[in-house]
Amino acid sequence: MSTNTGFSRRGFLGAAAAAVGYVTIKPADAYASVAESLRYVQPLQGNGDEYDSLAKISFNENPWGPPESVLKAMHHAFKYANRYGYPDGGVVPALAKHHGVPTNNIMLGSGSGEILDVCCTGLLRGGKKIVGSIPSFSVLYEKGRSIQSDTIAIPLLSDYRQDIPTMIKATNDNKADVGLVYLCNPNNPTGRCVSKQEVQQLLDSIPRDIPVLIDEAYHHFVEDPTYATSVPYVLEGRSVIIARTFSKIAGLAGMRLGYAVAPNALLNRMRPWATGTINASVLWGGITALNDVEAMARIKKETLRLREKAVADLKALGYASIPSDGNFFMVHIKRPIQQVQPEFRKHGVLVGRPFPPMNEHMRVSVGTVEEMARFQAAFKQIFAV
Ligand code: PLP
Repeated sequence: MSTNTGFSRRGFLGAAAAAVGYVTIKPADAYASVAESLRYVQPLQGNGDEYDSLAKISFNENPWGPPESVLKAMHHAFKYANRYGYPDGGVVPALAKHHGVPTNNIMLGSGSGEILDVCCTGLLRGGKKIVGSIPSFSVLYEKGRSIQSDTIAIPLLSDYRQDIPTMIKATNDNKADVGLVYLCNPNNPTGRCVSKQEVQQLLDSIPRDIPVLIDEAYHHFVEDPTYATSVPYVLEGRSVIIARTFSKIAGLAGMRLGYAVAPNALLNRMRPWATGTINASVLWGGITALNDVEAMARIKKETLRLREKAVADLKALGYASIPSDGNFFMVHIKRPIQQVQPEFRKHGVLVGRPFPPMNEHMRVSVGTVEEMARFQAAFKQIFAV
């Protein structure tokens, strides 16, 4: 893959850091660029009429929403809306059975965002640092910043894969200070996977007691045969936390349900920081979603079909995309995304924000057929092709 695509590791690192291959970002100056990028996420106020009218392909959501079976289960659970001690439908044992782990290896969160949050609060105490790729899912780094943790940032390789040898080196060079290694697999925003061999290499090459958070939010969309879930490492008793979510394939982003699979001892360091409040409705929806294998297969098939069509259409217009295993992809737009994003907004299309240093790439989430058609039409006008 060409490296001449508006993204340079050396440019991002600077000459001195390029020698070691990573850069330490302090909370004070950290993520000036990420904070900048967040200004593009404009929450929409009001009654939702405008929101409803937009093509929403910016947040890697499932545009079709939860399947009928899940809606029915959630509707059933509304009878608990006035209760505190509501039954959870057996979601924790169901998840434990699904993954073949004991129930004390499961911890629920209000979205997997809460899992990432409590990983930071529970595991970075005493000024510990995060090691992770840049760009990746920046919410974790922002949380670290908010509790005064440094981030040791590893740039992506020129083909946009994560640089596992440098991640190992950065962890070992700083082993006394590292509280958490973050591996988003597949990575958001690029959609690229880390192979099972590389995950094993990472886990085998760093001190066994350093926790590794493996974020598998997009697990259900992966086709890459070199990828595998890292859940089996939990059964081996390794220091790994797997984060999963019902926001993507199950279409429940607005309802907030995610979970961690991890050794109980590790979860016990995180549990005190979790709110422990998950709404009754999504608990019942979640367990139904887990069992509706047919609906998940349907969503996956349609998502991949529309993603491949969009990538091919853009290629025909002269714009290359990074191969993705998520419900989104990144296209190289050859100009700053900061200029282009507002143009799409004028066409009623919400696309992804900047992901520094990949400022000439646009992240596009897979939307409905109609949303993708609106995206293509807007793209042709904005890029005059
Ligand atoms: N992890 C990754 C990689 C994500 O992309 C997201 C959301 O987009 C999340 C975690 C958080 O998702 P949620 O809190 O909805 O489960």
